[in-house]
Amino acid sequence: MATKRSVGDLKETDLKGKRVFVRVDLNVPLDDNLKITDDTRVRAAVPTIKYLMGHGAKVILSSHLGRPKGVTPKYSLKPLVPRLSELLGIKVEMADDCIGEEVEKLVSAIPEGGVLLLENVRFYKEEEKNDPEFAKKLASLADLYVNDAFGTAHRAHASTEGVTKFLKPAVAGFLMQKELDYLVGAVSNPKKPFAAIVGGSKVSSKIGVIESLLEKVDILLLGGGMIFTFYKAQGFSVGSSLVEEDKLALATSLLEKAKSKGVSILLPTDVVIADKFSPDANSKTVSASSIPDGWMGLDIGPDSIKTFNEALDTTKTVIWNGPMGVFEFDKFAAGTLAIAEKLAELSVKGVTTIIGGGDSVAAVEKAGLADKMSHISTGGGASLELLEGKPLPGVLALDEA
Ligand code: AMP
Repeated sequence: MATKRSVGDLKETDLKGKRVFVRVDLNVPLDDNLKITDDTRVRAAVPTIKYLMGHGAKVILSSHLGRPKGVTPKYSLKPLVPRLSELLGIKVEMADDCIGEEVEKLVSAIPEGGVLLLENVRFYKEEEKNDPEFAKKLASLADLYVNDAFGTAHRAHASTEGVTKFLKPAVAGFLMQKELDYLVGAVSNPKKPFAAIVGGSKVSSKIGVIESLLEKVDILLLGGGMIFTFYKAQGFSVGSSLVEEDKLALATSLLEKAKSKGVSILLPTDVVIADKFSPDANSKTVSASSIPDGWMGLDIGPDSIKTFNEALDTTKTVIWNGPMGVFEFDKFAAGTLAIAEKLAELSVKGVTTIIGGGDSVAAVEKAGLADKMSHISTGGGASLELLEGKPLPGVLALDEA
């Protein structure tokens, strides 16, 4: 999956004067005044757009925003125009729709190097249904296709998959390429030793990732709410910690599988416990095997941090998915922050560090360490599915390199 044809393979002769349909991910958070509160995704889309502009293409941008049911003004992409224009250094034009005659007129007026943003593609229910007629209408606007919307690549929608049936070449944008290089390339061909750190709330949502990574890693570090299911499976008392009773056998079998594969699996040896699930709970550190009744584990303890750091010091590649504790509460954020700091330190020393989406990205950003890591994934669900080894429909549909 990593070897897809890239927009960088297209040259001036392929692009000059051509209408290029670019699926981007401009699904940004907006406040009540429709102001962008985090423009990470807009900035991430810029390199591909600038490359196309610089080679004389006529750029047609398509994205979704939120989950509208039909045309919903608060999910309009209009608030994106000023920031996009600023970042691209030109006046970006905006269409009121994403298909139809008016849009066709606007497309024919795009100058070489110009950019037209289409309205929210999810204003049509046909988008998520991957309706072929709708995909054909979208495709009819352009000569070729670029998909740079990694965050939606795990969905076969009209603008991510359907259009590729009608537009050739269909290539990956630079952001998509970088995600694939790291989440597929670096993970299947890692510099060794290779460690994975998996945390988050439940083992059930990470089974696929753990099983897939067990085939590739030398060391697996576990943290977050899922560890209590592993402890309970080993006969420890876990107080009122989060436990998935129906996953005890699974936890045992994952430990056995790790052993048979020669993967060294590290479970925290001490935990920070709380007397309630609250930012102002009373807390103390105890050994993982002696959590008293009425207390719940909400973070990994200092001994575990030390052991994890020592293990990570031996590695050349690290992938991280899921926080070590309830990092949203300052009192229980130490384990997660310690991992973020360790990975930042290792990155500087040349270790490949990959933050594989979701809450660990939020934690790294909260720690102000995002720019230190080798790669921070922009996709939540998409990165998880890639790490599980699942092919993404939006990627499969692109031309082979
Ligand atoms: P996930 O989306 O599965 O990666 O889980 C992330 C969530 O797991 C975060 O909101 C954390 O607060 C939560 N979490 C981490 N550790 C624990 C824990 N020990 N108990 C309960 N929730 C936790």
